[in-house]
Amino acid sequence: MTDLDIASQCKLEPITKIADKLGLNAEEIEMYGKYKAKLPLNKINEEKLNKSKLILVTAISPTPAGEGKTTISIGLSEGLNKLGKQTTVVLREPSLGPVFGIKGGATGGGYSQVLPMEDINLHFTGDFSAIEKAHNLLAAIIDNNLQSKTNSLGIDPRTVVWKRVMDLNDRALRNVVIGLGGTTSGVPRETGFDITAASEIMAILCLSKDLENLKERLGNIFVGYTFDKKPIYARDLKAEGAMTALLKDAIKPNLVQTIEGNPAIIHGGPFANIAQGTNTVIATKMGMSLSDYTVTEAGFGFDLGGEKFFNIKCQSSGLKPKAVVLTATIRALKYHGGADLQDLKNSNVEAVKKGLPNLEKHLENIQKFGITPVIAINKFQTDDEEEIKVITDFASKKELPVAVADVWAKGGEGALDLGNEVIKVIEKNHVDFKPLYDWDKSVEEKIATIATKIYGAEHVEYGAKARAALKRIYDLKLDKLPICVAKTQKSLSDDPKLLGRPKDFILKVREIEIAAGAGFIIPITGDIMRMPGLPAHPASENIDVNSEGEIVGLF
Ligand code: ADP
Ligand code: MG
Repeated sequence: MTDLDIASQCKLEPITKIADKLGLNAEEIEMYGKYKAKLPLNKINEEKLNKSKLILVTAISPTPAGEGKTTISIGLSEGLNKLGKQTTVVLREPSLGPVFGIKGGATGGGYSQVLPMEDINLHFTGDFSAIEKAHNLLAAIIDNNLQSKTNSLGIDPRTVVWKRVMDLNDRALRNVVIGLGGTTSGVPRETGFDITAASEIMAILCLSKDLENLKERLGNIFVGYTFDKKPIYARDLKAEGAMTALLKDAIKPNLVQTIEGNPAIIHGGPFANIAQGTNTVIATKMGMSLSDYTVTEAGFGFDLGGEKFFNIKCQSSGLKPKAVVLTATIRALKYHGGADLQDLKNSNVEAVKKGLPNLEKHLENIQKFGITPVIAINKFQTDDEEEIKVITDFASKKELPVAVADVWAKGGEGALDLGNEVIKVIEKNHVDFKPLYDWDKSVEEKIATIATKIYGAEHVEYGAKARAALKRIYDLKLDKLPICVAKTQKSLSDDPKLLGRPKDFILKVREIEIAAGAGFIIPITGDIMRMPGLPAHPASENIDVNSEGEIVGLF
């Protein structure tokens, strides 16, 4: 059975019933149809949320198919609810790029899914569209200013860094020339499109505390320079008010349900290889305000989403996680141990053993933040006992908690062991959470700390463009911002081909971008795409709607 088949067989509860589990009545939520609602920001309660236990789900370096963090997050949340802990799972919204591309949606899988999966994976409550519009509004305002004679800020079109966005994988839009067609049709210049998940507005929405803070961050967006080298921000174009107006509903978190009828909050969706890779601060705080346990996910491996979750999101919002679940799969370990992608279904105990150093490095990295990781083995039907034993033996040697999670096949029932391990860690309360670096350090020191301590690099090298950008960052006095590295998710290093636990490599920073509104600095390593392309046979070829209006082919 496909994920969509399983999802379609579930009888959904009205969203008012799910809200009731969070102590909210029908008057207190804003309904978007029968099964979706927005939660008002005044339900965030700082006192209550400080008592909630925040659990981060992360993973080892993934294979291209994903290792099941979302699936584990949902299953763990169902399991904790079964164990009597009132729990909400808080996740990101899917991007249409992967939905129509290779990876598919992002609503979990098997018997651990959030519903209604078709809605969540497609237009949902319109947040992505609002982000796209707010982003493109600023782009239109910039080009209008270039055109204007009476309102000109004197922006040098060649320095404009603000592109346009669209939520699709469309490589043909990566580089475009706009403003063709003569004097009434704009000023010709080269620009391009990024995918909406890569928009700085997405990053801003995900880090904002409230509407005022959102507006302030939008105003801080760096646009480019004037001909006499003066920096121009969105506020100089008086753009932030109208952009905030477009985002006034998108800032409210979305409530939906899991297969077992527990609450799920889904909000915001930056990727973790090019942005901070985790849902909005507001959604996490909402979940924590309304439940005793809150399970959340950070994208890709711990080196990307996990590190950014702690150093950027937690440091900027004051959140303190109580436990970290490290998702590992037998197939990914085999892949890191040298097995071919096509052979990952075949038993190969030796390859699992050879892949362990990748798991080991991620475990060490989590411990650097003062937290004991719990290893979750995300069980696939093709895993055999001997392969699983390699990991459980390894964990006992390291004296670390481990559990097999069979949530894909069994839902919450498959997460009871994992749930118990997580509860044990939380109740022991041995966490001494500390971020890895201080935002006050120099940009180079901060980047070097992440590169050497988390990735395992020997040192960092800067290309000519990156060195010029460093100078710009100091000139603009933006050097106290945290770092959000753009890096491949396939390797701990910046080279996707280096699997396992790479050592003695040099992290090469090609360029550095400034996200002054989001409030971070983005060193770009390797060939990172901010507008992905579709594969030769995209998932879209299998997606259809029947005459009843039911969707098929989503996964
Ligand atoms: P991540 O959040 O780490 O990217 P997901 O939870 O989205 O990963 O899972 C990626 C894909 O793998 C989904 O299509 C999901 O249905 C599938 N999947 C996850 N866990 C399992 C499992 N244990 N058995 C089979 N398929 C799984
Ligand atoms: Mg996921």
